[in-house]
Amino acid sequence: TKWVYSFGRNGSEGTAEMRNLLGGKGANLAEMSNLGLPVPPGLTITTELCTYYYANGQTYPDELKAQVTEALARIETEMGMRFGDAENPLLVSVRSGARASMPGMMDTVLNLGLNQATVEGLARRSGDERFAYDSYRRFIQMYSDVVLGVDHSLFEDRLEARKEEHGHDLDTEMTADDWKALIADYKAIVQSELGRPFPDDAHEQLWGAIGAVFGSWMNQRAKTYRRLHNIPAEWGTAVNVQAMVFGNMGDDCATGVAFTRNPSTGVKEFYGEFLVNAQGEDVVAGIRTPQHLTVAGKLANGSNDPAMEEAMPVVFGELVAVKDRLEQHYRDMQDIEFTVQQGRLYMLQTRNGKRTAAAALKIAVDMAEEGLITEEQAVARIEAQALDQLLHPTLDPKAAKTVIAKGLPASPGAASGVVVFTADEAEKRAQTGEDVILVRIETSPEDIHGMHAARGILTARGGMTSHAAVVARGMGRACVSGAGTVRIDYAKGSFTVGDVTVKAGDVITIDGGKGEVMLGRVATIKPDLSGDFGALMTWADKIRTLKVRTNAETPLDAETARTFGAEGIGLCRTEHMFFSDDRIIAVRQMILADDVAGRRTALAKLLPMQRGDFVSLFRIMAGLPVTVRLLDPPLHEFLPHTEKDIAEVAAASGIDAQKLSARAASLHESNPMLGHRGCRLGISYPEIYEMQARAILEAAVEVSAELGQTVTPEIMIPLVATRRELEILRKLVDTVAAQVFEEKGARVEYLVGTMIELPRAALQAAKIAEVGEFFSFGTNDLTQTTFGISRDDSGSFLDSYREAGIFDQDPFVSLDQEGVGELVKIAAERGRSTRPDIKLGICGEHGGDPASIEFCQMAGLDYVSCSPYRVPIARLAAAQAAL
Ligand code: PEP
Ligand code: MG
Repeated sequence: TKWVYSFGRNGSEGTAEMRNLLGGKGANLAEMSNLGLPVPPGLTITTELCTYYYANGQTYPDELKAQVTEALARIETEMGMRFGDAENPLLVSVRSGARASMPGMMDTVLNLGLNQATVEGLARRSGDERFAYDSYRRFIQMYSDVVLGVDHSLFEDRLEARKEEHGHDLDTEMTADDWKALIADYKAIVQSELGRPFPDDAHEQLWGAIGAVFGSWMNQRAKTYRRLHNIPAEWGTAVNVQAMVFGNMGDDCATGVAFTRNPSTGVKEFYGEFLVNAQGEDVVAGIRTPQHLTVAGKLANGSNDPAMEEAMPVVFGELVAVKDRLEQHYRDMQDIEFTVQQGRLYMLQTRNGKRTAAAALKIAVDMAEEGLITEEQAVARIEAQALDQLLHPTLDPKAAKTVIAKGLPASPGAASGVVVFTADEAEKRAQTGEDVILVRIETSPEDIHGMHAARGILTARGGMTSHAAVVARGMGRACVSGAGTVRIDYAKGSFTVGDVTVKAGDVITIDGGKGEVMLGRVATIKPDLSGDFGALMTWADKIRTLKVRTNAETPLDAETARTFGAEGIGLCRTEHMFFSDDRIIAVRQMILADDVAGRRTALAKLLPMQRGDFVSLFRIMAGLPVTVRLLDPPLHEFLPHTEKDIAEVAAASGIDAQKLSARAASLHESNPMLGHRGCRLGISYPEIYEMQARAILEAAVEVSAELGQTVTPEIMIPLVATRRELEILRKLVDTVAAQVFEEKGARVEYLVGTMIELPRAALQAAKIAEVGEFFSFGTNDLTQTTFGISRDDSGSFLDSYREAGIFDQDPFVSLDQEGVGELVKIAAERGRSTRPDIKLGICGEHGGDPASIEFCQMAGLDYVSCSPYRVPIARLAAAQAAL
């Protein structure tokens, strides 16, 4: 087996297409070499080796060593240096590189190959003793932390102590002799912590680092990241060993990171940061504040430090040419890392850059308009779910706000919440339903769970490419980073800005689009849905074949859904219309009435209200289809709970409270979800459905006349299991319809159909379709009844089910395609067998879930219906499903 692939000027064995085998980093390093870009030579050990390693008790195959040695020799040849050589030592970096990028998750070792002999060689060759010993101490520090597992604070403390003893404020004031002394101390720390010396042999160092990268695949933060991003453990990571180039050899050296377009806004501008005389990790660590690449970037951020464009104009020009080449080649925004060693540019990485949803949208639309990609590719490129971030509110510019601090606009969106200072606290309070803002000096991979739980993240330190910024953008959390005036005191549980003190538990608002931090909660407004968003949606609409409707019963929801592009209402849950204060008494009176007459009295009060509801919905939908579902209450939700509730109903109905209480008690069910609900209620109390059918049809007649266009209501019967149920209730609706049309002297078309939300109904779909003109899959109940898992109680064991690998995903969120999906397919097929033109849709929560939408496309449904805010997601997901 070939486990090792070389890359470099003399030809690479890999290409960008090989990312599964070489990992993203390795594949792109090979590709960049193939493009003739300046990449230091290196080797990639494949992800298959990682799999082998874990399948074989953490051991390597015999042939690996020889393959690494051979590839290393190629690096030596290209560099004209030798690994472990005292005269002209080759140093390497060792980095992980999985198939999917996992920023900050895995460990990196730089400057590997240094020992007492080689450091002297490096000093002679570079003519810079201070640089050589600085590199050596960095190496010991990193290697000890990452490979040997020695707590890095021991080294940090020692460094700080040395600085203090010798009156140095900054690392840059440390002399070669300082570093030498520190190196002796570092080695002593390792000896005393581990009881053995720090390894001197370059090859031993290399194999230690390779083992550490493979080992880090299974560390806790990598596991957490994989779980949050659905990355399977079997993918494994590759290891990249690459010749070191140095950005810290003097003032003609630098290191930097850049995006070919702005990753926050998507604007087509070269965007990045660099540090003169520094090594790569200095930029990301956020210890020194980096300078901007371009003059425009510098001016926009009010910085006084020279931009790279000014400080190193020639290399900057080369860098611009490289980034243009990369963007043309990959046809996507790239996130690049580079180093300048003594005026020469080297590329260390390129990958498709992480970006906010807003940037993803703008970049895709711009690139399609630039002709770099097609409209279809633009549509395919946006993660449907991520649109969610664009549909949520931003700060109302007119709202009063007290800005107390400014930082970098690291990840857009406005968020308010209570201040917490630790990731654990963020998670804990978020679980109780609180909005929290996580406030940290800076974040690290240990904070991921808290960042995920938080609405927003505020850090005092770090740039646009700091950990906090990168991770927040990926997760779609609002983030303000590097708010330097924020002084955080973890011990006191507070932060101060000037003379303002904010304590844990106080509410603040952050605006990640502007970088502002405000006291209290600030009002927000709806997002702009025209422009790029409109363009992408237009393209999506041209592609998709599924219709998208909404689940809505209030005028506000219906209007929101229409502005989001809903093509009708797929589910109007009429029981939701009964909860308002002015109606609930009449509803309770109806339910608690002990005879038909009592019920009819209550229903007479409800009729005009219901009719009014439908009139407004029909007006808003202006001729688009509206599916109204007749009452489907789990009865207990409506029963009076308190004495006051009972007293109110008693007053309204004239029945005494005692009697009402007894009646309510008698309606108690032990399993209301499987109880007297849905069509069962319509069968036992037909007058309820009669009233609703009348309200719907009267409203339809009225609005048809008004609009001069017919409104065609779709009347839907819930929880049907048998043909006979539907037959009885269809007859009831038809009878009411005939009466209404006669009374009004006008008629409308209407459909009567059913929900398919019980397995029996799915199986009996052929017979049910003889009576019903449409099916709408109620996949909430269908999931509940297929699994026999209560939709309200599954939370308590869902996590153990996920952990045990029984569920990949919550089946109430993403459709169980295997089981519930099979019932959907059966019902669709059998329904069509007796009624070929039957309309098929889905209205469970799954109607807004992209994976489920893809399934609906496959199953041949006509439409999906989802909550208003998911309508755009569904439109895009439907287009992607059709591609
Ligand atoms: C369903 O069961 O999927 C459905 C849409 O109905 P409800 O959620 O109201 O039970
Ligand atoms: Mg249901």
